[in-house]
Amino acid sequence: MRNGEWDTVYQNFVYEPYHDENGKVQGVIAITIDVTAQVVARRRTEENEKRFRFLLNAMPQQVWTAAPNGNFTYLNEVMIRDFDRSFEDIISQGWEVFIHPEDLPDALNRWQRCLHSKQQFLAEFRLKFSDGNYYWHLARAVPMIENGKVSFWLGTNTNIHRQKVNETMKDEFISIASHELKTPLTTIKGFFQLIKRDVTEQTSLGSFVIKAERQLERLSRLIEDLLDVSKINAGKMIYNKELFDFSALMTDTVESIQHTTTTHQIELHSDCSIEFYGDQLRIEQVLINLLNNAIKYSPGSRKITVRCTIENSNLVVSVEDLGVGIAEEHLKSLFDRFYRVDNSSARFQGLGLGLFIANEIVKRHGGSFWIESQPGDGSTFSFLLPLNGTQEFTDKATDHETYYEGSFIRIHYREQEAYLDVEWLGYQNYDSVVKGCGIMMDLMQKNNCYHILNDNSLVKGNWSEASDWGASVWFPAMADAGLKKFAWIYSPSTFSRIAANKSLPSDYEAVQVAFLIIKATR
Ligand code: ADP
Repeated sequence: MRNGEWDTVYQNFVYEPYHDENGKVQGVIAITIDVTAQVVARRRTEENEKRFRFLLNAMPQQVWTAAPNGNFTYLNEVMIRDFDRSFEDIISQGWEVFIHPEDLPDALNRWQRCLHSKQQFLAEFRLKFSDGNYYWHLARAVPMIENGKVSFWLGTNTNIHRQKVNETMKDEFISIASHELKTPLTTIKGFFQLIKRDVTEQTSLGSFVIKAERQLERLSRLIEDLLDVSKINAGKMIYNKELFDFSALMTDTVESIQHTTTTHQIELHSDCSIEFYGDQLRIEQVLINLLNNAIKYSPGSRKITVRCTIENSNLVVSVEDLGVGIAEEHLKSLFDRFYRVDNSSARFQGLGLGLFIANEIVKRHGGSFWIESQPGDGSTFSFLLPLNGTQEFTDKATDHETYYEGSFIRIHYREQEAYLDVEWLGYQNYDSVVKGCGIMMDLMQKNNCYHILNDNSLVKGNWSEASDWGASVWFPAMADAGLKKFAWIYSPSTFSRIAANKSLPSDYEAVQVAFLIIKATR
């Protein structure tokens, strides 16, 4: 009762006896301290924690938290139920005993990289449940960052087993169905050859036969594409590589596609008289696909231009049309299976497999694909094939202290202006990016120079395979090593620009990053 009213307060009481000179207790001093605020706050925290745990346990996913060093600190009940082990047991064992041995190295590798870079963790792996079976999961974890430091990681493992199984079943079905369709089709084609012997083209029956044959060809191409996709997915695509005349392949393919169209004129500028070692039929297939697409997706225009050049021991082929074009947000996904910009198929027919297959073929020859396009103005699809099976990046000169020159990069420490001047040259890939970035780090540290101008204006093609590495490994390491300012001049190539944006994490407080566009190259 305070001031005539009831009030709830919490007090800490301390009772102390006090004594006279003979040590006899005279009385008790009572000291009370008001701790209401602390108790209310503690109760609120306990209540919140209870609700938070209820929430985490109500989720269908496995939920966990880990300390900044990666060790588990909390697991929800779903996890304890799935593994049928005690909390302490799981915490002390860690991931290793539950992840499938085949998936473990990749998962651990990614996790270590994320712990270092403080970036989101994403991985797919199979987890062993208490029934002894493995189930596919998608794992995701994000760091809670406070005052620039990770205070803990919050992770979820989502069961995606059913999707994975369905996908495998779909692939098997496609494989079986296309095999079954191919056999009668081959027989029909044979009979058409016989019919053609007895009917002349001029008769109406003859023209029907020709039209029917063209449709059979289309059907046959679709079935071949489906078969190729199932082979690629099962890792069973076989490449028969041999030396062949690349220039002849270009001329013959352009000629044969020109025969199939009256609406388009294909111009060929070829400067690649060279013997190339690769699978001739598969590379022809890539070119046919690009040409057919160029025709299909440019109904309102006539001209298609094919170019072939040799640059730095690489064959570079491009097919340009003046057709409908593609918006930038679609560019990266065009090489995915079944991806189509306009899926309605009302306007353009297709399955969305051609580019997926083409990309796979080019990759298996050590090359890469890229696209430049403006909606409404047309598209240029290009691919690169290294003459020696892999792109080569050679050293030219270095003093190991202040400069390095290679076939793919030039780095100079500009002492007067106090910055590192980095110029990337020509076609890059994962290897060149890793090598160049390593040298950049070395020269930055040797010269204590933490301002970098990273000029990509002479970069061509597509090196996106290195952008994840850039963001998760290299850039955090540069930041740790003291990098302060990083100015990046974009390449004029769209794919290169997209990769540039992916390569630099945007949330580094200690490093100032700027992207620059310049119109003229130096
Ligand atoms: P499909 O043509 O059967 O759909 P592809 O894999 O060959 O499959 O192409 C995938 C998608 O890429 C197409 O659906 C289309 O949206 C887009 N595309 C391909 N080539 C071009 C082009 N030359 N111009 C515009 N869009 C294109």
